[in-house]
Amino acid sequence: MSDKTLDIEPEYSPQSRLDDLKKVEPEFWKHKKLEDMNKTEWELLCDGCGKCCLNKLEIKGKIKFTNTHCRFLNCENCLCKIYKNRFEVVPDCRDIDLKAVREKPRWLPKTCAYWLLDNGYDLPSWHPLITGDAMSVHTSGNSLKGRELVNESEVDDYENYIVDWQDL
Ligand code: SF4
Ligand code: SF4
Repeated sequence: MSDKTLDIEPEYSPQSRLDDLKKVEPEFWKHKKLEDMNKTEWELLCDGCGKCCLNKLEIKGKIKFTNTHCRFLNCENCLCKIYKNRFEVVPDCRDIDLKAVREKPRWLPKTCAYWLLDNGYDLPSWHPLITGDAMSVHTSGNSLKGRELVNESEVDDYENYIVDWQDL
């Protein structure tokens, strides 16, 4: 199957996802542990930064991020083009669950809401749950949008693409 065939990006409005705030307790992230969150709360936590879809290398026990991205990431809106089928199509695409959040070495970015909360930090001021605006992750410069990125299909040696961005 070609990438083109798989390009089945759904009509999706990140802002509409915030409608689910009506279904959960106000500021649930301040008084609930990750393990006690329901699916709706868990999903709301994701800021949509797209940084977990960068390719990484493990070198001497440390994760090095590259500025290469999964071929199915839409770099304009930082969303997965094949979200519903992602685990079937991309065998090494990781589900963001508790195990992933607590894995060592850390492979989620420092700004990832799951990692922050699990490590005792607050959500950042630009997080959509704080601003009420799904776009704030982009307008504040905390997503991949606008960054110099390379599609993994164009990469031969990932070591040439290692980056040390402050927010990774
Ligand atoms: S890094 Fe974390 S907050 Fe950002 S898109 Fe991935 S799971 Fe969501
Ligand atoms: S398949 Fe997985 S790694 Fe690739 S863009 Fe989708 S969520 Fe990200």
